[in-house]
Amino acid sequence: MQFIPALLPRLIQAINDVIEANADEVTALDQAIGDGDHVTNLQRGLKALTAQSDELAGLDWVAAWQKIGMTLMTAVGGASGSLYGTLFVAMSKAARDKALNLPAVAEIFSSGVEAVKLRGKADAGEKTMLDVLIPVAAYLRQAATDAVALPEVLDNVARTAIAGMESTKDMVATKGRASFLEERSRGHIDAGAKTSQLMICALVEVLVAQLTAPT
Ligand code: ADP
Ligand code: MG
Repeated sequence: MQFIPALLPRLIQAINDVIEANADEVTALDQAIGDGDHVTNLQRGLKALTAQSDELAGLDWVAAWQKIGMTLMTAVGGASGSLYGTLFVAMSKAARDKALNLPAVAEIFSSGVEAVKLRGKADAGEKTMLDVLIPVAAYLRQAATDAVALPEVLDNVARTAIAGMESTKDMVATKGRASFLEERSRGHIDAGAKTSQLMICALVEVLVAQLTAPT
């Protein structure tokens, strides 16, 4: 499988498309327990990344993730901008001198998620994007230990992301704007968990297509 930054334009396009297709639903979620700007925040970042697509495709992963992180931090705004920015900058740091095989990807992504936890002073169960990111990181580490085959890994990553997103519905928010609502935040899926899941599933779809493409 072609597991190189040349895939980045396609990955960015796929994420753009999925956020666009679900914009109204996600905005409604963020309006219910947040301030309703989550989609426009992400779209600002995605527009900036789309403009850099060709340049990103020419970099190695370490440089590409660093650049993506910096772009997200400056372009997105909102809590999600600094959190996603942190994710990519930390992944870039962790990726130095590593080949991109499953154990390395699991370690790199986990380092990114740990940095997001520190940045947001948050953990699992607080009704945020971390309720998607943490289980996906844990699954990747488990899959690497068990040497699970890549098609199965991708399938399970998507399932894990969906389960994580759904788990936020019954949680009470203790971080971010939704935490102001306390008990009233229960009963709504968290917008950031929803977009994390959508983005992860879009990435998986591109990678599955790449994996099954005739060479
Ligand atoms: P803002 O809340 O500043 O308007 P966004 O609307 O772009 O920013 O993003 C909101 C999302 O960010 C939430 O739905 C939640 O998933 C995530 N989030 C907010 N605060 C935190 C935090 N401290 N840790 C992790 N994720 C957070
Ligand atoms: Mg918001």
